[in-house]
Amino acid sequence: MKYIKCNILNPVSEKKCEYLKDVIITIDNNIIKDIVSSQEFNSTKIEIIDKSDKVIIPGLIDTHVHLSQWRIRGRYKSDLLDWLNTYTFPEEEKLNNPDYAQNVAQDFFKNLIQVGTTTASIYVTSSQKATNIAFEEADKISIRALIGKVCMDQNTPPGLIENTDKSFNESVELCQQWDKKGLLNYVFTPRFAPVCSSNLMSKIGNYAQENDKYIQTHLSENHNEIALVKKLFPEAKSYTDVYYRANLLGPKTIMAHVIHLDDKELELMKNSNTKIAHCPDSNFFLKSGRFPYKKLIDNNLTLGLGSDVAGGTSLDMFYQMRMANYMQLDYSIEVEELFYLATLGNAKVLSKDDIIGNIEIGKEADLLVLNINPQQTIQELLSELIFVRGKDAVEEVYISGKKVTI
Ligand SMILES: [Zn+2]
Repeated sequence: MKYIKCNILNPVSEKKCEYLKDVIITIDNNIIKDIVSSQEFNSTKIEIIDKSDKVIIPGLIDTHVHLSQWRIRGRYKSDLLDWLNTYTFPEEEKLNNPDYAQNVAQDFFKNLIQVGTTTASIYVTSSQKATNIAFEEADKISIRALIGKVCMDQNTPPGLIENTDKSFNESVELCQQWDKKGLLNYVFTPRFAPVCSSNLMSKIGNYAQENDKYIQTHLSENHNEIALVKKLFPEAKSYTDVYYRANLLGPKTIMAHVIHLDDKELELMKNSNTKIAHCPDSNFFLKSGRFPYKKLIDNNLTLGLGSDVAGGTSLDMFYQMRMANYMQLDYSIEVEELFYLATLGNAKVLSKDDIIGNIEIGKEADLLVLNINPQQTIQELLSELIFVRGKDAVEEVYISGKKVTI
């Protein structure tokens, strides 16, 4: 049993955040057992961890990030397809070397935890070995993660391309080996429609739906990409329809970007309860377009935030909250909502809001101890974190009740 005396800044809904001052959290193994005011707490003979001059928030969640691109952050091209061919695919080929893959994975997870991300949905590469190494390293460092081997069986450089059956079978093997092991999940990861055949996408879609597994991919990021999808899949009515036909839409599917949808595509997303990872920094960096935040919210779509490293330049989810605010020119996403997006909102995107996302009795204890003056209002605290301090405020990280070294 652990007892922490602290102040809790906690997202409750899109518009509401609560601030519980001078409370004691009781953590039993990995679960938050109780939260009471310190005056009501009977503290005799109990060792209390005193963080009363700090603020505790739930662990941050990143719903879209590429482990394999960690080393190429910031390499600039102003178009997605050009960027993929120039920097990304050559780097991903390097992870075919297991030593390099392990080195990148260790460095990536260490950095993820240092910025206060306790859960992430991760793309590796098309290498089964590199993906297996990523799982092993995530398991060692005790981070909560959804991890997937990228599937690509067409329009792909020789060092990354796979045979359709091999791509599918290796994904299923990894899923059987790692899904629900400890804090880990497998997520089926057809990279995006241009590099996947209809046959491969359908095999993945059908298997994942039948077995209630996660799926992640990219949708409607950039105009050149959309034109390419139209050319490659003339039978489909739209980009979203390509995925719909392959049975890839559903409540456990996380679509990244989703910038340029027409109304019919929006309907497909809504009716299937497909989730969205908005990646604002990446959209700025690759000049992909402006995410239609208000329109998607008004249509009741479930969305959260992803760093999309290395289309995005930083793993810091406070920075991503800031970028989400900056991305909207005529709509203000308030600080409470920005905070919600990277915590409880992202937990909903990952269908994990029953166990993580905020600090509630019964949930698992994924917590960040922040070095910030607690004598401030909710809005002052959130503004300072999002617009000024970012990751530098993160002092300690707990995942599933266990303090992790940062
Ligand atoms: Zn991405």
